[in-house]
Amino acid sequence: MKEFMLLLTACIGYFNMTFAAATAKADVNFDMYKKAFTERLWKIYPEWASSIGYHKYDAILVIPNKANREKELLFTKEELKRLNHFSLDSLSDLNKIDFHLIDNFLKSSIWQINTLKGYEWNPSMYNVGESFAYILNENYAPLSKRINSIYSKLKNVPAYYEAAKVNIKNPSNEHLQLAIQQNEGALSVFENDFIDSLKELSLTPELKKEYFKRNDTAIAAIKSYIKFLQDFKNEHPRSFRLGSELYAEKFNYEIQSQYSVQEIYEAAEKRKDYLHTEMFKLTTQLWPKYFGNTPMPPTQLSAIKRMIDTISVQHVERANFQTEIEKQLPALIKFVREKNLLYLDPNKPLKVRKEPGYMAGVAGASMSSPGPYEKNGIAYYNVGSLAGWSDEKAESYLREYNKYVLQILNIHEAIPGHYVQLVYSNKAPSIIKSILSNGAMIEGWAVYSELMMLENGYGNNEPEMWLLYYKWNLRSVCNTILDISVHTKNESKDEALDLLMNQAFQQKTEAEGKWHRVQVTSVQLTSYFTGFYEITKLREAYKKKMGNAYKLKNFNEQFLSYGSSPVKYIRQILLSKN
Ligand code: ZN
Ligand code: ZN
Repeated sequence: MKEFMLLLTACIGYFNMTFAAATAKADVNFDMYKKAFTERLWKIYPEWASSIGYHKYDAILVIPNKANREKELLFTKEELKRLNHFSLDSLSDLNKIDFHLIDNFLKSSIWQINTLKGYEWNPSMYNVGESFAYILNENYAPLSKRINSIYSKLKNVPAYYEAAKVNIKNPSNEHLQLAIQQNEGALSVFENDFIDSLKELSLTPELKKEYFKRNDTAIAAIKSYIKFLQDFKNEHPRSFRLGSELYAEKFNYEIQSQYSVQEIYEAAEKRKDYLHTEMFKLTTQLWPKYFGNTPMPPTQLSAIKRMIDTISVQHVERANFQTEIEKQLPALIKFVREKNLLYLDPNKPLKVRKEPGYMAGVAGASMSSPGPYEKNGIAYYNVGSLAGWSDEKAESYLREYNKYVLQILNIHEAIPGHYVQLVYSNKAPSIIKSILSNGAMIEGWAVYSELMMLENGYGNNEPEMWLLYYKWNLRSVCNTILDISVHTKNESKDEALDLLMNQAFQQKTEAEGKWHRVQVTSVQLTSYFTGFYEITKLREAYKKKMGNAYKLKNFNEQFLSYGSSPVKYIRQILLSKN
């Protein structure tokens, strides 16, 4: 019996060794495939390449015509064939995820061309402003070199817009208006930025004349497109609403969730009810402190709103806004370390900078991350000021980002939110996870990290902190309810504004901005809550699996170690391991 056991273990040992060797070989081949795949990808999508720091194809402007769509389809079909030469089982965990990401990307491209057909009904897809502005403004190469790329790229602008005119069939009126507005905005890149840049170069008069001539032709092409859109006889405009079927498919490709749209909708409704209940408890508890014997308003929601409005008056002075954000970061780092929530690499300190000129006017804080090809790129935490704002606008903003919410914003953007996630994902370098990163995982982590900090006592469990956190969390929850209701349940503008203003306690300007956004985008607004929900569900399951051995730190670190991957794939790995 004993001998037999030994033999068996030996056999397993041998099997594991050959299996490991086979896996290693498959991974080597797969890594080579990934490299070749990305090279071929950039040939098909040169503007995408430029935008993430791969500059080989900066001089190319793709003409979005039928021939190009066919080229794209051919590319996707060939790549799917190549991809399917690999057997998923033979790959490492990290490569398995890359396989899924490439597969999803290719199928999604086919679906966009053959089924969604945005090129027929979304005229705002056509806009050359951004890709020219990027080459003009980013200092990755000497100006003369970048201007050369632009000169070549300019040549195709007229053909680009002619193709756009041929493609457009039945645009939604909302996308039509957006396209007019955004292309009018793009004009300044050519009428001002390009001309200013030319002045910095010493060119011969003949060459200068050539450059100006081509630029003028491009400007005329943009103007002609704007005119085409303004005159468009849109007798049967398409609804801006995506409808249930397309929405479900888009949700699957973009979010890559283990849950269906309906499940996420129900989870968001449930979370909203939970938040309202908790917020009312806190309001009742805080009421005497702020209002003494004054009776509470008749409804729960109006009582919560009164309390939030009252607490929001506690905010930093306008002049201290920027320094206050910077001051909070060391406190967040200290808290994460003291509570042992996850490892923070001391060699990767957060670089804080005042917002650069081109971002001016975007107050608050945001992360700028280097693209996958930007060697030695630095991630910056941009902190904005309220310079140049009217007193009224500044006051409204400072109340929105009051004493409590400002701390939650720092958690979300920096520590342990987006910045920390980025540091971890750079430790598992994968070009595929970088270019095909999952937005729901990235936003979900930032939203989850807010809750995780408060659960562990950040803010000393002050009722005010929890109340304002719940209001902030309600924004993600209601973004999801709004997006699904508008695109699949025919929700009206009045119903949408009621949701945002009366049930999520937003100001009118914020609510109207959101209504505008939901008309011209779809699915993206669900990413925050969906990712958050999936991560909290995964943590529950992981905790159950680990039993007494469960440690929050281990969960957080393992979760982050797979890069910006869809949560459902990280889930498969975390729950199947030992
Ligand atoms: Zn004030
Ligand atoms: Zn975020």
